[in-house]
Formats: sequence, structure tokens, C-alpha cells
Amino acid sequence: MKRFPRWLLALGATALLGAILGVFLLRTRREESPAPKKRLLILGVDGMDPQLLRQYMNEGKMPNFAALAARGSFLNLQTSTPPQSPVAWANLITGMNPGGHGIFDFIHRDPATLTPYFSTSQVKPPKHNLRLGSWVIPLSEGEVLLLRNGKAFWQYLDERKIPLTVFRIPSNFPPVPTKGKTFAGMGTPDLLGGYGTFSFHTDDPIFTPGPVSGGVIYQVQVAGDHIEAKLHGPVNTLRKENPELTIPFTVDRDPSEPVAIFSIQDHQFILREREWSPWIRITFKFIRGLESVTGICRFYLKQVRPQFELYVSPINIDPSNPALPLSTPQSYARELSRDLGSFYTQGIAEDTKALTSGLLNDDEYLEQARTVFEEQRRLFEHELARFRTGLFFFYFSSLDLNGHMFWRAIDPQSPSFDPELAAKHGKVLEDYYREMDAILGEALRATDENTTVLVVSDHGFAPFRRSFNLNAWLAENGYLVLRAGASAQGRDIFRDADWSRTRAYGLGLNGLYVNLSGREKNGIVRPGSEADALQREIAERLQAVRDPSNKEQVITRVDRAAEAYSGPSTSQAPDLIVGYNRGYRVGWDSVLGGISTNVMEDNMQPWSGDHCIDFTKVPGVVLSNRKIRAENPALTDIAPTVLAEFGIARPDTMKGRSIFEASQSSGQELERSAAVRDREGRPH
Ligand SMILES: [Zn+2]
Repeated sequence: MKRFPRWLLALGATALLGAILGVFLLRTRREESPAPKKRLLILGVDGMDPQLLRQYMNEGKMPNFAALAARGSFLNLQTSTPPQSPVAWANLITGMNPGGHGIFDFIHRDPATLTPYFSTSQVKPPKHNLRLGSWVIPLSEGEVLLLRNGKAFWQYLDERKIPLTVFRIPSNFPPVPTKGKTFAGMGTPDLLGGYGTFSFHTDDPIFTPGPVSGGVIYQVQVAGDHIEAKLHGPVNTLRKENPELTIPFTVDRDPSEPVAIFSIQDHQFILREREWSPWIRITFKFIRGLESVTGICRFYLKQVRPQFELYVSPINIDPSNPALPLSTPQSYARELSRDLGSFYTQGIAEDTKALTSGLLNDDEYLEQARTVFEEQRRLFEHELARFRTGLFFFYFSSLDLNGHMFWRAIDPQSPSFDPELAAKHGKVLEDYYREMDAILGEALRATDENTTVLVVSDHGFAPFRRSFNLNAWLAENGYLVLRAGASAQGRDIFRDADWSRTRAYGLGLNGLYVNLSGREKNGIVRPGSEADALQREIAERLQAVRDPSNKEQVITRVDRAAEAYSGPSTSQAPDLIVGYNRGYRVGWDSVLGGISTNVMEDNMQPWSGDHCIDFTKVPGVVLSNRKIRAENPALTDIAPTVLAEFGIARPDTMKGRSIFEASQSSGQELERSAAVRDREGRPH
């Protein structure tokens, strides 16, 4: 068994424990397999939007999707409340709503400390350390935990020895133990432990060194054409002072040509200006000769002179030697790396933050995003060729991330629309839809009449033209009270709220919490009728908000957790889930608890499309080569569908039903189920 290095145990960002790893290593013994003939292939296409898909199909641009829909079915797929990817995929994975699986938003908070954290996984540091001189030696193991509850649909198959490959499904890091092949997706950190931190190295004084959104700018030392810089790695938790680990590298510019030679550890490579390096494997050493961890990164030489500008991708966990669990079995990541070379392992690989920060321009971002897609396609084709029986699920991210960044190129009403941009990049999304059509074509050619094919997306898409700063609205309306002496700018709830008078606050993309006594650190609102009345009042007033610029309704729906969710985790949900109208979304500032000056603003960022809104306004899609008989299929129906395909009885925890079964037709039942579905984001 591979041992995870001690420094990771110390960092806490470490392996699942031995018992769980042991299970990874128990390979299915072939003679025990019943060799089922059934095949189920699912393409998971994040953010595929029914309106765009219909449009491109009607325009003849997606022949394989059109053929699939003609042969089988194409319906809208009801998404989750709220329609955020980690929540939506968890609905799909478990067949439960968020009250069951416990993922309510990208961002959750600990009510006892009011600390925000990423919702899907948690790093727990070891409880006991031994301090020896400048060393800190961990005596107990840390853990990295998947925070999603509920059994994944493929675990039911795994128990029955049905072969499976589940590739990069979100909300599954670290991957739940299975004998079948799984690879973690959205939620997987980079080597620094976050969702991905790029670095930018320059001697141009117009860049201020220090953190920017999604990355860090570093000043380089230049002497003539010789440049010295450092890659910054994880913190050395084995040292008492916790120094940051670094790897020095040098760049030597050609005296006349826009070319440079890079030297880092034992690698040397040449890049021309505006050229990307292949993946470079680097090693951080924690204790000389003893503990080390490898990572992979790509260099992009943006400009050679007069000023030197270099982008380095987030340092990804190396699939050939993973510092954290990426796959089941553990050897699967290494096999893929051996067969196909290095590839992005961080959860969200498209570097949208580098584009937002202005350190990569549109063309440079698109080239990076294209590499992500090409890697996904290579991995898909590799696995498709090996698919014999059982389940094959593969996840594609391109429509979602590129939809977020390039909606402004197809939306003339976007405040950042410009005809030149539309002429140049107006086909970015269409091209990726066509790529998905080509992928579906490959899948259909590789399958036969015994194979059920499903294409599902977790949600659709909408323009994001105007920001609604929820905490600013709560402050303006007296629900959130600033303490005396709060700064005028850069305010947030953690530093600037007067909790003795604050009754509600916003956190995450759709969450609104009541400052409930007995639950929140400084709660003042009494549970029961007082909290109830406050929730109703805020929900009503939010839906009455009109955009002063055009009188449009900004928020079309507000769900109460107690009504929308069922299951043991419901008490951890935000009290209200704010559902924005198409065109609107919460402002970036409010997501992490910021309190902006203005309630409403134009969204001028490249991130110009979104879906974290009223769930009824951004349904996803479901297509199959078989007739779908459900009238209003929902994400929560997909897990029961998979189980039914393999003849496995639906467990009580799953409330949905196979989409290939007819909906119940008794009038009253249908009406009740529609009402519940509408309220709960899932069928009953
Ligand atoms: Zn998205």
C-alpha cells in the first residue's frame, strides 16, 4: 500500500485511513463476477442548456443529438434547489435532495464560529504533535473527508460486482471507496489545498506583487537576460515556523529572439513567446532525502521583453504519484498517467480566475480551456475503448466554464457586450456544443442496442447582467446592522456586523441565514414563531425588489429550507434559498460575506453567464436512446434509473423513480407530486 507522506498527515490534508485504503486494494476476483451483459453509458455534461441545445439542433449543428432525440427522448431535467453544480450532482449521485446529502451551496459556514468553508470536503489536522527543536512531528493522522452524505448510485452496483467507471463526477473528493474505477472531479484541490492557485511572475512594476483572485503575483529578479524566480508550494508543516516550500527556477532570454530557456530541478525546456510548456513534474522536499511530494504544472511564457511575464498553472496533484486520494482503486490514477501522460487533476481546471484577473486574455484563456477539453476527450476515448459491460459515466466541464466566461459574446444585453468581441468569440459556445455532439457520435458508434445511453446536465444557463448584493440589501433594510466604526469600504459580516442587532446575513451563492439564538455564535432571533415570521417577511420583501434600471423583478422565488428539504441534514441548510430571476445573480462580494456599498450593480466581469438562480428558470437536459416515460424527470430520478437498469431495487432513501417508468397518473397524486416537486426540487 502506498503511504502518504507524513507532511500531509501534519498538514491534515491527507489520505483516507488505512482501513479505507485497504478496501481500495481489494480487486474484484474475475471468477466471482457474474459478467452481466447490460451496458449503461452516461455522458454528464455540466451546464448543457435546453434552449441552446434545441436551437443548435434546429439549426442542424448537432446531428448526433438530433438523431438521439428522434430515436429516443429529449426532455428538460429539473435541477436542484439551488441549481449549483456541487448540489445538483449530489442530487444525481444520491437520489436525495440536499436535506439528505448535506450539500447546500459551494460555501457553507460553521454556525459556532461563523467560519466559511468549501462545502464538499474538509481537511482535519492531526490532534497531537510532538515538537522537537524546529520540527513538529505529527503523532496522529489527519484526515481529508468527503462531506457529502448518502450512498452513491455506483456503490450499489459495486456491491453487486457490476463493473463500473465513474470519471470526474463532482462532489466525490476524496472518492468513496469502491472496487470499480472512479476518478474525483470538482472539489479536488490543487497541491496548495485550495481550488486552484496560479502564479504570475514578472518584473513589470505595474503589477503589484501579492494575491489576486485565484492566484499570486511574484516579482522576479532580472540581471540582463537572466531571470531568477521561485515556484511556491505547500507549507512545510513539519517545521515549527511552517515555512513555505519553494523551488527556484531560472529563465534565460535569447538576446534578440522572443525565446527563453527554462531550468527547474532537472528539467530544461525552451518556450517561445505565447507558448505553453507541456506538464512539468516537480518535487517539493520537506525533509532532505526523506519526505517529498510531487506536483505537475504548466508554464505559459506570456511576454519575453521588455517586461518579462510568465503564468504558471496551479500545481496539480500528480496523477502518477498522488499526494491525496484521486481515484479508486488508487492505482487507477497511476495507470492513466502511464497510458496517457499528465493531465489536470484539480476540480475546476479551466482557469477562469486568471482571465478575470486580467493576467490571461480571452485568447490565452481559451487556449488553456481547450487543453482541458482535449485532455478530457483523450481520457474519454481511452475509457470508451475499454468499456465492455456495466456502467460508464464520464463528465465534461467545457460547456459550463466557457458558458460562464463567454455568455457576454452571445448576449447583446450584457453590460460587457461588444460587437467586436461577438464577432471574434461569438461562436465559442456553439463550437463546444458541436464538440459535445462529436463526443456523443463517438459514444453512439461504440454502443449497441443492448446499451442504454443517457446524456444529462445538472442545470441550464442564464445571462448574468446585474449583481444583487444581498448583504448590502439586508443592511439597507435593517436586518444586518453594522457596528459603530465599521469601515466604509471592504466591509464584511465577519468584521463589521454588530451581531447583537443583526437578524440575518447572506453567505454563499444562494444562502441566507437567520442569526438564530442557540445555533449561531451570536444568535439573537428566537427559534419558533419569531424566526418563522422573520423568514416570511424577508422572503416576501426580497420578491418585491425591483431593478431600478428597468423595473424588473430581481428575485422570483425564495425557498424555505424547512419546506424545500427533507432528511437529517436539513437543519444545517441556509434558512432561505434565494432564487434570482434570469439576468440576475448575487454579487461576488456577498458570496463570501462581503457588504458592498451598492445593492445593485452592472456585472462587468468576463464571468457573464450563470445558473445559481431560481431553479425553475434553469432546467438541465436529459436525453436517451430509449423512450423516457416520466413527464417531469428530475436529477433525483437518475440514481433510481441507474439502479432499475441493473435490476436493483430502489432504496427508501431515494424518492425519485426510473425515468423509463410512466409517471403516476392518478390525478390527485400527480397534482400533489407536482406541488411537492415544485417546492422540494424533487419528485415524491
Ligand atoms: Zn457553473
